[in-house]
Formats: sequence, structure tokens, C-alpha cells
Amino acid sequence: MSIVTTIGLMSNILPWGFYGHKKINRQAVFSLPPSLFPFYKEHLNYITEHAVDPDKRRYIVSTEGPCHFIDLDQYENPFDSIPHSWNKAIAKFTEDSLRKHGIVPWHIYLTKLNLQKAFEEKNIEKIIKYSADIGHYIGDAHVPLHTTHNYNGQFTNQKGIHGLWESRLVELYSEDYNYFVGKASYISNMQNEIWKVLKESHVALDSVFKFEAQITAKNEFPKYSFEQRGATTVRVYSREFSLEYHRRLNKMVERRLTSSIRMTASVWFTAWVDAGQPDLSAILNHKPSKDFIKEMEALEKKHTQHQHMGRDCD
Ligand SMILES: [Zn+2]
Repeated sequence: MSIVTTIGLMSNILPWGFYGHKKINRQAVFSLPPSLFPFYKEHLNYITEHAVDPDKRRYIVSTEGPCHFIDLDQYENPFDSIPHSWNKAIAKFTEDSLRKHGIVPWHIYLTKLNLQKAFEEKNIEKIIKYSADIGHYIGDAHVPLHTTHNYNGQFTNQKGIHGLWESRLVELYSEDYNYFVGKASYISNMQNEIWKVLKESHVALDSVFKFEAQITAKNEFPKYSFEQRGATTVRVYSREFSLEYHRRLNKMVERRLTSSIRMTASVWFTAWVDAGQPDLSAILNHKPSKDFIKEMEALEKKHTQHQHMGRDCD
């Protein structure tokens, strides 16, 4: 008996899909200047594989969920009214309310400060952990559907659009993307940069929803089809539907993915510069401690257990 599951129709539990997040972190390493490249190259595997840890933590750590999104449409004039400073934002909206609508911009900033501190301490484990984490959150901030309450089209009869945009299209077309994003550059105002990214994501939402609705209404071809994944049959957005959506978006997904790569490299570089440009050659050829590896294995184990409980598609 074959099991039918659905790819590209799930909610926002797999932002960028695991593939997209890993691609962002991996490619970012190759945009680094010589002062950082050897260190990151040494930990390329860790930084790539652990790009998805923040999503794994969502099932285990109750405070993790809000770190991945911000429902900007829950605010009036969000770009004028929301303070960039966490303390000012709390004073204006209360922490509960901020967390309810998502805190990705402040969490990216906090992770940057943590990464900077790790560089100051030359703490290998923290550097690679926060580097992997921040690439994930930057990737999330680039996804238009991470900036709306209607993140999966659930209020507009477009349920599944989240996976269509960030998983199905990436699955079908990411091999054709141009990953040459240039070198990392110093970001002089980190908070402004984060909010600039969120604004770009948010203004793109209109097209994200509109094109899906137009293609659905046209009804030229079946919206869904079934494909084999090993022994499993999965329901997916059909290739014709996906191609039409891809065409109308006119490289939007590629632009957001490659912008994530560029910004991730630039944030790593900026954290290192702000830490006083420590010489990383002194911490080359060191393996992470046994405790650190154990901690990572424990996360993996808990995540696997959770998947086996079948809660990945809730
Ligand atoms: Zn995420």
C-alpha cells in the first residue's frame, strides 16, 4: 500500500524547505573574504547541515516559533509604527503582543550580537552555531509569506501556497538559479538593513497571492498532480501550474534566495568586523567539543522522535 503525503502543500513549518536553507548557508561561505573564508570552509559541513536547526527547535523550545516570522499586516503602517529597538517595541506594544505576531527582525539582531560576542571570545562552537542560526532567520525574513498572518493562504482559499512558493518552485527550478552573488560587504546599520529586507518581502506579497489566484481561476490545467518519491506517492502542485506561477513571479524566488545568501555572508562579516576583526587562524584545526556534539545529537534525536509521532504536518 502506498502512502500518500503532500509536498508543497504544508504550512510554514518547512520554510524554504530544508534544501533552500542549507543552500543559503552553504553558498554564503563562498562569498566571504580571505580573512573569514578558511575558518568557515573548515566548518562548511556543520554550517550547511545545521541551517535547519531553528526549525527543528520549534517543536522542542516553546519560545522558538515567533523567531521565524512577523505578521506585519497585524500592525497599522508597520514600517512607520514599529520601533527597530526591542525595548522601545516592547514599551509600545508589550512583549506578549510582539511575540504573538512574530519577532524575526529583533531575533536576527539579537543573534548578530551573540555572533559578535562569540567572535570576541573566539569561541568556535558559538561562532558556528550562531552563524548557522542567523542564516536561517535571514532566509525566513526574505520569504514574503513570513510577513503575513495569511501565511499559508488559509484566509483567501489558497491553502498550500506557502509550500508552493518556497518548496515546490525551489525543488523544480533552483538548479537554474544564478548563485553568483558577489562578496560580503559591511552593513553599517544592521537594524535598517533587516527592516529593508522585510519591506521587500512584504511588498512582494501582493504578487505572491494574486498570481496564484489568477492561475487557479483560469483553470487551464489541473492544479495538483501525484508524483513518486521513492516508495511514496505524494500530492504536489502540478508541473504546469508550478511553471506558470514561476513565470509570472519572474525570478522572485531566485532573487529572494540569492539576496538571503548575500545578506547572510555580509552579516557574518559585519559581526566579525564589529568584534574587532579577531585573527581566526588561531582557532583553525580545532574540532568541536564532545559536549557540543552531544547537544547537537540530542536535538536531532528529539526532532526525529517528534517526526515519528507524525506531528510534522499539523
Ligand atoms: Zn524558520
